[in-house]
Amino acid sequence: MNRTMTALAALSLSLPVQAKTPPAPALPPVPSLEQVADNALKSDVNAWDFVEGITTEVGQRQAGTEAEARGRAWAVQWLKERGFQNVADEPYMMPTWVPGEPGTAEIVSPFPQSFAIAPLGDTASTGPEGITAEVVMFASVAELQAAPEGSLKGRIAFVSNDMTRTQDGSQYGFAGPTRWVAAGIAAKKGALATVIKSVGTDDHRNPHTGGTSFPEGVTPTPAGALSNPDAANLERMFARAKGKPITMKLVLTPQFLGETQSGNVVGEIVGRNPALPPVLLACHLDSWWLGTGAIDDGAGCAIIAGAALNVAKAGQPLRTIRVLFAGAEETGLWGSKAYSKAHLAEPIAVGLESDFGADRIWRFDSNFRTTNPELHKKIALAVARFGVSAGTDVAGGGADLNIVRDQKGALVDLQQDGTRYFDLHHTPDDTLDKIDPAQLRQNVAVWTQVVGILANEGTAILTGTPVPSAPAIMKSR
Ligand code: ZN
Ligand code: ZN
Repeated sequence: MNRTMTALAALSLSLPVQAKTPPAPALPPVPSLEQVADNALKSDVNAWDFVEGITTEVGQRQAGTEAEARGRAWAVQWLKERGFQNVADEPYMMPTWVPGEPGTAEIVSPFPQSFAIAPLGDTASTGPEGITAEVVMFASVAELQAAPEGSLKGRIAFVSNDMTRTQDGSQYGFAGPTRWVAAGIAAKKGALATVIKSVGTDDHRNPHTGGTSFPEGVTPTPAGALSNPDAANLERMFARAKGKPITMKLVLTPQFLGETQSGNVVGEIVGRNPALPPVLLACHLDSWWLGTGAIDDGAGCAIIAGAALNVAKAGQPLRTIRVLFAGAEETGLWGSKAYSKAHLAEPIAVGLESDFGADRIWRFDSNFRTTNPELHKKIALAVARFGVSAGTDVAGGGADLNIVRDQKGALVDLQQDGTRYFDLHHTPDDTLDKIDPAQLRQNVAVWTQVVGILANEGTAILTGTPVPSAPAIMKSR
């Protein structure tokens, strides 16, 4: 060190330290969409918080009731607290059915005992005194259909069926008609009431409820689902009764409340160009009354909201992402229909729905595989690392995407593993503990990846044609 430097050093030591403007702290780098999706696989706050919160603080959310209204108020607050914009509860009126007192089904003779039963949606009451009548068994809907007109007069029809577990849930299409149409067919043939074996794959003493319908001009009758072990018991009784009549006393007391108000809850992550058609993510907020609506469909709303928030972590998306928590799906898609009616003139870029529990996504389908193969391929490649394969089915969208189907728009289906879904579906077992947090995170990760790609897509999703650029791209707000 020379003398000058020594002097300078001494000087600098003797002087007070000059106040310097500290350098601006470096902004944390904006993570890529891929990083955000990968992180979602490892940790999740929002999706679990939503489904844990709504099942704990609200519980069951039977369509059209005050419980569903509390669910909507809870969801509105949750969305606002997490920064969603344009949050609203869009009201509509609907005919409301409620289940009444827990039903009972008793075999009076020849083998007296009680069975577990739950009324089916849109069915009539037996009155508190109940009805007692002979039971006639049918092995299938086809067998019931073949019964002569009037042959069920004064009797209770029992329609059995079997349902097996399938990964893609396709068995619902085969077993479902027992619940969807048997009561109506039996009523038309003069039956006083109908009981069915549950449309479900478990062996718990839990009935699976769900909606049914009666043909035009046929007065609704009482109808209920027996738990699977009880329905099996009734089948055995027929074998042992050796032709002796089997008599059942049925007490089911549901009620029609007339028109009540329900609503669709919406919220948005506003895009850089809000003039572009938005990406619509749908689920339903209502549930049947037996469980707490965890897998059907609290999980679906949790997944889509969690994914929308994640996409924003990778920077403001080009298109707006809108979540639609539809009301009253279970009792007749009232929310989905009302949403389409109110917004049909507002084009949607693409619709996706989550309403099949919370187990892992294993396949991706779209309805633009042939019209926009590049985008389909891009998504397929991006989700492969999450164990999701590219399907060749044409996506049809879920029940709450009426608006997209009415607009003949683009759809993406993220198919979940449905192997155990129908063990729990519409039963008292639909509770939070049935959700596997790791599989829920896989859902959120895949949704984050896919929604992020779609929300940043600058061409029309269905056709891949360039969209006209907006006069001014709006800045983040
Ligand atoms: Zn559902
Ligand atoms: Zn359901």
